[in-house]
Amino acid sequence: MVKQLKNYIGGEWVQSSASTYLPVNNPATCELLAEVPDSPRADVDAAAKAAKEAFPEWRSTPVLSRAQYMYRFKALLEERFEDLAEIVVKENGKTRDEARGEVRRGIESVEFAASIPSLMRGYKVEDISSGIDETAERQPLGVFAAITPFNFPNMVPLWFLPTAITTGNTFIVKPSPQTPISMDILYELLDELDLPEGVVNLVHGGKEASIAVMEHPDIVGVSFVGSTPVARIVYETCARHGKRVQAQGGAKNYIAVMPDADMQASVANIMGSAFGCAGQRCLAGSVVVAVGDAYEPLKAELLKRASNLRVGYGLEETTQMGTVISASARERIEGMIAAGVSEGAQVALDGRSKSVAGFEQGSFVGPTILDGVTGEMSVAKDEIFGPVLSIMHVPDFDTAVDAINASRYGNAASLFTNSGKHAREFKYRVRAGNIGINIGVAAATASFPFGGQKESFFGDLHGQGLDGIEFYTDKKILIERWL
Ligand code: NAD
Repeated sequence: MVKQLKNYIGGEWVQSSASTYLPVNNPATCELLAEVPDSPRADVDAAAKAAKEAFPEWRSTPVLSRAQYMYRFKALLEERFEDLAEIVVKENGKTRDEARGEVRRGIESVEFAASIPSLMRGYKVEDISSGIDETAERQPLGVFAAITPFNFPNMVPLWFLPTAITTGNTFIVKPSPQTPISMDILYELLDELDLPEGVVNLVHGGKEASIAVMEHPDIVGVSFVGSTPVARIVYETCARHGKRVQAQGGAKNYIAVMPDADMQASVANIMGSAFGCAGQRCLAGSVVVAVGDAYEPLKAELLKRASNLRVGYGLEETTQMGTVISASARERIEGMIAAGVSEGAQVALDGRSKSVAGFEQGSFVGPTILDGVTGEMSVAKDEIFGPVLSIMHVPDFDTAVDAINASRYGNAASLFTNSGKHAREFKYRVRAGNIGINIGVAAATASFPFGGQKESFFGDLHGQGLDGIEFYTDKKILIERWL
């Protein structure tokens, strides 16, 4: 019997009232791993009620005690580290090492939250007027929720939940229905912490559950990570319902390579950026902009390395690139490659119709390199979210910066160079929220906010770091005279 996932509400595992369950398949083997409920509004209502009831006692639990839960949570995550990584591989399709990296990053967010007693401080000024003192105190706000994507099923919810609850809020996670099992296991660990009932809640489902979260009057704020069209809906809907919202969207990340770059080291790094997690990272390099004489050696080295990449099932140690998330994702990606070709791009390496022996039903797309790409082509403009790297050839640095800034997205951009002058110019002029200099995946660590600009981010305060603490707290102003 395949497991039917339950929701976790008010400290208990409860059967969803859903009438529909969706299959969760391993994208490499097609094995049915679980069935996930398409939870209706009533389940979100129950979670919001439990979280609301838990809030008064939880927010008055000393912050040092709240932080203690994070130390225990980290210990449990470390104990189950390999299991957590394995389930990410099974439900998402990435490689075991990529999954380990994801789980490690998630644990770092828990470690960050353990330091909240020294980070959620307010401030005070004596004698702001004669005999009057003024204080800004940081307070939690109530029930927050996160709506999260399939591509980092373990890590992304951990960008939010630890900070939200350690600052004194209560929380609901609505994970992706494509990869819900990671949260099922994570909530088993949260259950072992014996947090007060209702502090953390889990509601599985898709659009209906998301809408219920966005519209619920008792949910004060929403952290969202996913595609740009949905991020925009979430931002607008939450704002209309008077909520705080941070909505991290999709991306189209450019990587510029100068002729003075160390080509071997640069390409090794670019390979990880373009083909790591089969290109299903919001920080994945998608267009490489070869400046002047960088073009020939860059293309040759990319083709050499990409052709040798071993594609396969993520649980096999020899695999260097896993599957994409589903057969429909593969179809969409192959369609975008075909659209690029019809617009004039040349296929230098074709990963379409990739088949892996022993996993013939798997959703594989091999590494694909398109050459002769120009800014007008759809493959240069739209998010592909698959292992497809486009090469654009430009004459100089300024043209490269213009090509990058023409994108409607602004998640990440990287420059490979040996020139400090160009590195500074790049950082200064490029409109993207995460900049890599000789780094292909400029991923903010837990104590820094995760950047994002233009259509890659809707909101003011980013996820993670001190922005996260700002987002989950408000500053109350106290003005006192004791005369
Ligand atoms: P998605 O937008 O399809 O889904 C994200 C979440 O929104 C899921 O929980 C889903 O159930 C829910 N959802 C889907 N449609 C909805 C709707 N109409 N209304 C309300 N909720 C809805 O994204 P995905 O395919 O799961 O994830 C991939 C996307 O996420 C890519 O675009 C990627 O760039 C982006 N992403 C961004 C970041 C970032 O930090 N900026 C990080 C990871 C992924």
